[in-house]
Amino acid sequence: MNNTHTPLFDADRLAALRHGRMTPVLSDDDMLKIAEFPRERAKLDSLRLDYALSEIDAGLDAYQRRAGLTAAYPNVGSNVVYPTLGLAGEAGEVANKVKKIQRDFDGVLNDAARRAIASELGDVMWYVAQTASECGLSLGDIALENLAKLADRQARGTLRGSGDDR
Ligand SMILES: [Mg+2]
Repeated sequence: MNNTHTPLFDADRLAALRHGRMTPVLSDDDMLKIAEFPRERAKLDSLRLDYALSEIDAGLDAYQRRAGLTAAYPNVGSNVVYPTLGLAGEAGEVANKVKKIQRDFDGVLNDAARRAIASELGDVMWYVAQTASECGLSLGDIALENLAKLADRQARGTLRGSGDDR
């Protein structure tokens, strides 16, 4: 084993990876180091997670901007009430579609119902994005903070139960 190896990720490369400016492409030499040094392997796993999270962050912010291009309601940009009401309404439409599966199809989800639910979930997503925009919030930040909150609860064994601050 080579004990005089240089770190796999120097500070510049680490920063570029964390900010999503480069994909974690690994050379053969990198792969050798990873195979030899468990600590490098753990670091790579953590970087892969960071990279995946930065992709989620950027993708959701891009979606939020795109959703905003089709906003057409009174006082867009200073009207949080409209998209909030829309969000509640569309969530109700999802529930109604699921309810009708119980009533008409003995609770069995068919392709038509699946497509109808997908369409309503899309409407929910649009209103979530637009409600966030009206509050000056980043959809990517919201998603990552939520993932972090749930991962923390999972780590502490408090996923089940109730209360916002558990
Ligand atoms: Mg709808």
